[in-house]
Amino acid sequence: MTGGLNSAIGWAISKALAEEGAIVTATSRDTGGMVMPVNFAGSIEPLAMDVHDPGVWVYNYDILINNAGISAGRSVPRTVEQDWQNVLDTNLSGAWRLTALCVPHMIAQAWGRIVNISSVVGIDGRLGPATYAASKAGLVGLTKATAHEFAHKGITVNAVAPGFIADTGLMAGLPQPRLLEIRKQIPMDRFGTVDDVAGAVLYLLNAPYVTGTVLNVSGGYVT
Ligand code: NDP
Repeated sequence: MTGGLNSAIGWAISKALAEEGAIVTATSRDTGGMVMPVNFAGSIEPLAMDVHDPGVWVYNYDILINNAGISAGRSVPRTVEQDWQNVLDTNLSGAWRLTALCVPHMIAQAWGRIVNISSVVGIDGRLGPATYAASKAGLVGLTKATAHEFAHKGITVNAVAPGFIADTGLMAGLPQPRLLEIRKQIPMDRFGTVDDVAGAVLYLLNAPYVTGTVLNVSGGYVT
């Protein structure tokens, strides 16, 4: 579970999995000072890892959740090359790297689950910088191609595309008037919760005949 410790969404997914009895490895670039809760059926183990360079760890995991993500850049002409590269490398190439590292074990045991955390912005591009939209749209392509490649190996690959999720890192930078404007565009008239996203991930992990799909969790913002 990349970004599973310090991301509100990642932590909710880690907890939901641990509550189901899973032994979760949750990554952060800096795990110092983390205190793990102990009242779960499973557990959450911290792992220091940067998706730019995940290293040669033993990636014997049954489930991979690619959640690590950043946003940077502004309008296209004002976005600097470094931001473009960094967002693409973190959000898209990072997921590809982890997939490549985890898939051999899944193939060997003829069972695996991969969920990529994309975004509604990657589907309709309405809000946010093009760097972010391009990376999240790329994740949809990665999801579909990987699903095709490994469907006959017992591995399902799906994506969750959250809409606007309250109390999260990526929403924290938006000013109040902007938040009100966005909320008016959500048919359910509320922001999502981290548990809405975690529930969608759990569904996909428990759906053996569902692969290559993108599950929008956006209160109708994208249909
Ligand atoms: P946060 O900004 O809170 O967390 C992002 C996480 O990504 C952090 O835990 C960070 O880990 C990790 N991360 C960033 N760069 C790297 C890197 N180079 N290597 C490893 N880990 C890295 O994000 P949110 O919880 O808001 O979002 C989580 C995911 O959901 C993201 O992919 C985001 O794009 C997506 N999403 C979020 C939405 C929202 O409304 N918040 C809406 C749609 C999609 P650490 O700092 O611990 O190293």
